[in-house]
Amino acid sequence: MPKIQNFKMYINGEWVDSSSGKKIQTLNPENNEVWASVPEANEKDVDKAVQSAQKAFENSWSILHPRDRAKYLRLIADQLRKNAEHLGKIETIDTGKIYRETKTQANYIAEYYDYFAGLADKVEGTVVPIDKPDMQVTTTRIPIGVVAAIIPWNSQMLLTAVKLAPALAMGNTVVIKASELAPVTLLEFAKLIEKTGIPKGVINIITGLGEPCGKALTTHNLVERIAFTGGPETAKHIVKNSAENLSQVSLELGGKSPVVVFEDADQENALNGITAGIFGASGQSCIAGSRLYLQNSIYDEFLNKLINKAKNIKLGSPMENDTQMGPLNSFKQLENIEKNIKATIEQGGKVRCGGERSSVSNKGYYFPATIIECENHNLPVAENELFGPILSVMKFNEEEEVIKQMNDNKYGLSSGVYTSNFARGHRVSNAIRAGIVFINTYRLISPMAPFGGIKDSGYGKEAGMESIKEYTRVKTTWYNSSNKPLKDPFTMG
Ligand code: NAD
Repeated sequence: MPKIQNFKMYINGEWVDSSSGKKIQTLNPENNEVWASVPEANEKDVDKAVQSAQKAFENSWSILHPRDRAKYLRLIADQLRKNAEHLGKIETIDTGKIYRETKTQANYIAEYYDYFAGLADKVEGTVVPIDKPDMQVTTTRIPIGVVAAIIPWNSQMLLTAVKLAPALAMGNTVVIKASELAPVTLLEFAKLIEKTGIPKGVINIITGLGEPCGKALTTHNLVERIAFTGGPETAKHIVKNSAENLSQVSLELGGKSPVVVFEDADQENALNGITAGIFGASGQSCIAGSRLYLQNSIYDEFLNKLINKAKNIKLGSPMENDTQMGPLNSFKQLENIEKNIKATIEQGGKVRCGGERSSVSNKGYYFPATIIECENHNLPVAENELFGPILSVMKFNEEEEVIKQMNDNKYGLSSGVYTSNFARGHRVSNAIRAGIVFINTYRLISPMAPFGGIKDSGYGKEAGMESIKEYTRVKTTWYNSSNKPLKDPFTMG
C-alpha cells in the first residue's frame, strides 16, 4: 500500500492544517486508491484566509504600482514553466487527466500570467465631458477588494489563472478554494507562489468541502467578488450566498455544446475536430462538443468513419505517453453516465460503440469512447451534460432546421460548425446562441480569447482584454476649479 502524502493549506503565507485537524482524502482515479490527504477547512479557517487577504489588500497590494504587481505575475509564469512537468504529474494523479495534456497545459498557463502582467499598467481612466461649469470629472478603475475564486476539479490551473491573474493585476487579493475532488494541484501551485516572494496574504489557497468551506467563503462579509466555475446546481447556491455579502458574481458553468457537420465539410478535418471536442480529456471538459448533428446525405458514411476512429482510441493509464483517454475523475460520474445511457436505450437510443464500463482496469473509473444515435435530441444523453466521452448523434436535412435544433438546449457555452462554404459558416455561427463558436476547428483556448457562455452556461467572460475590468470598479471624482463659493446648498443640479 503506497504511503499517503499529507498536504497543507496556504494562508497568510504560512502552511497550515485546518483548525479542527480534520482532513479530506483524495483518490487516484486510475486505481481508486487514496493517495493524499488535505486539510478540511471550516468557517474559522475561511475567516483567517479572508482576513489575511483583506489585510494584504489594504496594507500592500492595492497600493502597489501596477507595474510592480505585474513583476510578481511574471515570476508566477516563470515558476509555472520551470515546474510544468511536476505540476502536470500531480494533476494527472489527482484527476486522471492524461499527463501529455496536464504538463503541456501547466506550461501554457504561464502565458495567462504574462498576458495579464502586460495589461496591468494599461487600464486607463477617462475625463468626462461634464455639463457643469468649473467642474472637471474623471473616472479611474479601482480594485474591488477580496476575491473568492471557487474552482472545479477539472482544468484547475487554467480556471485559476483566468481569475487570479486579472484579479492580482488590478490590485485585488484572492482566496482560492480548490475542489475537494482533486485538491492537491493547487496546493502544489501554492509552493510556487511562495517562491515568488509575493507579499503574505495576497494569495491564499484553501481546501475544503462545498459546505461549510465554499459556503463560508462566498458568504463572508469581506468578500467583494466571487469568481465561480462549476456546475449549474452549485451556481444557484453561489448566487444565493452572494445575497449575504452583495458581492459581484461571475459564473462559468456547464454546457451541452452542439456541433454540426454539413455535407460540404472537409471530412477528415471534421473527424479530428469532433474527436478532440468530445473525447479529449475523456469528455470532461465544459466545452465538450457532445451533441453532433450530421446532414442526411453524409450521415451513414461519416458516422461509420467516426465510429472507426472512436473504437481505436487508446484507453489506459493517464501517465503513459501513448494513452489517448484516461479514467473519469470519479465513480459518481461513471454512475451518472451509466444511468443516462440506460434511460436513453430504453427510449430508443442506439449505442454504436462503447456504452459500457471498460475492462481496461477493474479498479479505475474507465469508460470508453461512446457514440449513441438518437432519433431526437431530447433523449437523456443528448440533453444532459454528462462530463464524459459520450457523443450523441442526430440527423438533419436543412440549415434552418439544424440551427433550431442546436439552439434547443438550456446551455449556451460552446458550439462547432464544419463546412467548406464560407457564407454558410458565417450564417450558422451567427445564428447559434452560444458564447463560443468554433468554425472548422474545436477545443482551443488562449489568454487573448474571451471565454464564457450565455443562458444556463453562466455569465461574465474570462480571459481577453475586457475580462480584466471585471476585477475593477469605476470611481468617479469631481474637481471644482472655481474660487467662488458654492451656490445655494439646497438645490441639486
Ligand atoms: P461543482 O459545481 O460540483 O464544484 C465546483 C466547486 O464549487 C468546488 O470547489 C466545490 O467544492 C464548490 N462548491 C460546492 N458547493 C458549494 C457551495 N454551496 N458554496 C460554495 N462552493 C461550493 O463542479 P465540479 O464537479 O467540480 O466540476 C464540473 C462542473 O464544472 C461541470 O458542470 C462543468 O461543465 C463545469 N465547468 C465549467 C467550466 C467553464 O469554464 N464554463 C470549466 C470547467 C468546468
